[in-house]
Amino acid sequence: GLFGNKGWKPAWRDPAPKAEYDAIIIGGGGHGLSTAYYLAKNHGLTNVAVLEKGYLGSGNIGRNTTIVRANYFLPGNSEFYSHSMKLWEGLEIDLNYNVMHSQRGLINLFHSDGQRDAFVRRGNSMINQGDDAILLDREGVREMLPYLDFEQTRFPIYGGLYHPRGGTARHDAVAWGYARGADRRGVDLIQNCEVTGIDIENGRVTGVQTTRGAIKAKKVGIVVAGRSSQVAAMAGMRLPIESHILQAFVTEGLKPVIDHVVSFGMGHFYISQSDKGGLVFGGDLDFYASYASRGNLPMVEHVMEAGMTLMPMIGRAKVLRSWGGIMDMSPDGSPIIDKTHVDGLFIDCGWNYGGFKAVPASGYCMAHLMATGESHPVAARFKLNRFATGHILDEEGTGSQHN
Ligand code: FAD
Repeated sequence: GLFGNKGWKPAWRDPAPKAEYDAIIIGGGGHGLSTAYYLAKNHGLTNVAVLEKGYLGSGNIGRNTTIVRANYFLPGNSEFYSHSMKLWEGLEIDLNYNVMHSQRGLINLFHSDGQRDAFVRRGNSMINQGDDAILLDREGVREMLPYLDFEQTRFPIYGGLYHPRGGTARHDAVAWGYARGADRRGVDLIQNCEVTGIDIENGRVTGVQTTRGAIKAKKVGIVVAGRSSQVAAMAGMRLPIESHILQAFVTEGLKPVIDHVVSFGMGHFYISQSDKGGLVFGGDLDFYASYASRGNLPMVEHVMEAGMTLMPMIGRAKVLRSWGGIMDMSPDGSPIIDKTHVDGLFIDCGWNYGGFKAVPASGYCMAHLMATGESHPVAARFKLNRFATGHILDEEGTGSQHN
């Protein structure tokens, strides 16, 4: 474009909303767009609209730190994330779009005997699932990550769990690739169209109210991440979800120095280096519920301190910017892909800090549920009523890694 190329065309159409669709997806983030894509591709449902209140990719899909991994521990989660990893591995060919998926390897550090035991268990569970995990001792970590502080640190590094197929992908390219793929199959992607109400008659969904008028549909999927409680409330639901801010940071571009994704085990800090050279890092949630997509200074300080403890050399880098996104936190750290009490109304939420890696499988399974009425086998445990029945999937309680 900068060189005077006038031939660029928009990658997707900008259609006006029709009066009626077979299915509506509320939310044009990663999960909404992938749901629409797989509805069209896997189930032949193309009379579908994605309604996005802002622009496509304006939410968390464009705000995350891009980590992709399949290192979950619990049955229920591990087969789902394993399925997602396989979809990632074929995604660029499937979409014919460069999402810059980079399997550069992920290393979770441990700093005590107890943490080592937990990671050995996790690694065995990953291998049992058919994924990859290698236990590194301290020297193994030193060889791969020589820039960490091994000598003077308050939290000595005992070793790491290495997940070679883990890595990163370019987050907004993922949204754009799914958007283009859905559009080409006939899905209408409608931006600047906020859903303000859900129409229900005799226990069945009949459509939605939006800032661009009423639209009818017999099937509606709520896929709005941090706004899940607000949108579900339009159908009279009270979700077991709290919305919290998660912040992230990027430095100025540097020469290649960090080849992997690395997470610290004694504080909330994880890091990778983007293909532009910026060090991309983050930590834990701001611990108060909020819908403001910006965070506060105490967490900034905590993340910077943890980074300096782990790799003092990071102190030389200049932080370019920070931002926040609204996380849909579930009580057990696991997601929900389920029907609701309203016929034809479905929900996909509860992705916590980790929904980027789930984008392919979430859309795949949500599309399966909306098209067939049955849960996909790899998402069969992601039921809304598990908080009532007690069949929770407490991934948080297994010492899971964030992001
Ligand atoms: P979003 O992109 O937020 O999509 C939801 C969309 O719904 C938004 O575009 C919103 O505008 C729209 N919407 C809301 N209400 C309405 C309405 N009423 N009408 C119409 N549209 C509406 N995950 C990982 O796996 N790895 C990571 O490294 C990672 N790092 C993260 C770092 C940060 C700082 C943050 C914020 C998140 C991170 N995540 C990570 C989590 C991941 O980004 C999210 O779980 C995931 O993106 C959420 O799904 P989504 O993409 O569909 O959400």
